[in-house]
Amino acid sequence: MPGFEINRIRSAAADLHDVRASLAEYRCFVHQAADFGGTKPEQSILFETQLNELFYPLATPRWIQDIGGISVLYSQSELPESPMKPIKPWYFVLFLTALPFVGLAQEYDILLKGGHVIDAKNGRDGFFDVAIKNDRIAAVERSIPSSRASRVVDASDLFVTPGLIDLHVHVFWGTRDGTYLANSFNSLPPDGFTLQHGVTTAVDAGGPGWRNFELFKEQTIDTSKTRIKAFLNIVGAGMAGDPEEQDLYDMDARLTAMKAYEFPEYIVGIKLAHFKGPDWTPVKRAVEAGRWANIPVMIDFGRAQPTLSIERLFLEELNPGDLFTHCFADAWGRESIVDRSGKLKPFVMEAIDRGIIMDVGHGGGSFRWNVATAALEQGMRPQTISTDLHTGSINAGMKNQLNVMSKLLNLGMSLDEVVKASTWKPAQVIKIDDELGHLSVGALADVAVLRRREGKFGFIDVARTRLDGKYLLECELTILDGEVVWDRNGIASPAWDEVDVPPSPGRPEVQQFINPPK
Ligand SMILES: [Zn+2]
Repeated sequence: MPGFEINRIRSAAADLHDVRASLAEYRCFVHQAADFGGTKPEQSILFETQLNELFYPLATPRWIQDIGGISVLYSQSELPESPMKPIKPWYFVLFLTALPFVGLAQEYDILLKGGHVIDAKNGRDGFFDVAIKNDRIAAVERSIPSSRASRVVDASDLFVTPGLIDLHVHVFWGTRDGTYLANSFNSLPPDGFTLQHGVTTAVDAGGPGWRNFELFKEQTIDTSKTRIKAFLNIVGAGMAGDPEEQDLYDMDARLTAMKAYEFPEYIVGIKLAHFKGPDWTPVKRAVEAGRWANIPVMIDFGRAQPTLSIERLFLEELNPGDLFTHCFADAWGRESIVDRSGKLKPFVMEAIDRGIIMDVGHGGGSFRWNVATAALEQGMRPQTISTDLHTGSINAGMKNQLNVMSKLLNLGMSLDEVVKASTWKPAQVIKIDDELGHLSVGALADVAVLRRREGKFGFIDVARTRLDGKYLLECELTILDGEVVWDRNGIASPAWDEVDVPPSPGRPEVQQFINPPK
């Protein structure tokens, strides 16, 4: 381990990364000195306290973790053989002299510089710098000096948007076989399929019902970095497949609304899906639950012969703010929004004007080029873009949120429109728009930094037919709650040979078994 050098401390003031390394090194030194009799343990504690008071208010949570771990790593048994020289008090004075410069350098934790910001709520569509402090957006201005941030990300040639919100996923993963999308192998643990595509908030669409919501919370919400919300299934057992999903006796509006009241932070809507049969009872129960809990209802029309009328659904059964997912489906047993000749049914635009939300919900069986192309050519636009993520869609035509957005981009929607339909609009629909879906100063710092590639790309629908396109959206960087959670090309990370990073601190809970307390 390298020694403690005055020059290192001087240069530390100029660069946060060096400061970080020096701090860690300094702390190691204090520990070593204490252990070898160079300083008394009380002095070591005093130095620690001073360091904490000076640095912790400026530090990011990750940094605190790093620094906090160092003292564990360099416990006595791991120290090098030769004893260190005693500490000299003036070293510490020099160290403190450097602190004011460090403070200046840390006004913002992250600065996204030179990116093209798309933020529908604030009407921004142009070049802005975005600064983040802790878990919040701290400033959005035409130009913010790099010197004011401890970490600067060059976002030129990239688009900076609010963290994406996917309104339709299936993430109630578990180990029960034969339970379709509730606690099953068909649902996915979210973090592997969201953050790397810019999605910071994902809404499970009907996996759990009121009977198993707590299990979902324990297994998925509490264990995921992705911000997880839920449309609670009107079926008590959730999306457990048949026969459970056909059980009218398990569709209890009152108990469903009660569960929504119990968990308002997570339950943002009610879901009805997969009901087979020409019966409006399930729709009425879901709408009743939604009205009781004051949250929107998402309808995935099941299969019925004869089919249930979507005109009646849009104009008579649903309330403004409710959602019709799988809007570009063309499937047996469900009515499509376009007729056989490709004409958009006249009541669709009326429904949109009425406030019914047309949601994409691509999935493994609900996105057809013939429907989407015809609808968009006739002026219809989906208000929200979502994936219907599950094992049956990720490796087929759907793939991920940005792939679905790319499809709509290639079908003629503008980048502004597809970003709005994946950020600001979904945030409004599920009423999380006070802090999410936009980049206002004070909002939660969920940010996606996207690249729009131009070239020749192919996209497939659920019938496995291809559409050639010119644009493909990819995610370079994802920030959630102010923390970098995806960095495709390391644009938010320093070059490895420009920083001095000490060995990883290891895990304290493991270290205590390696070096048990005496
Ligand atoms: Zn679904």
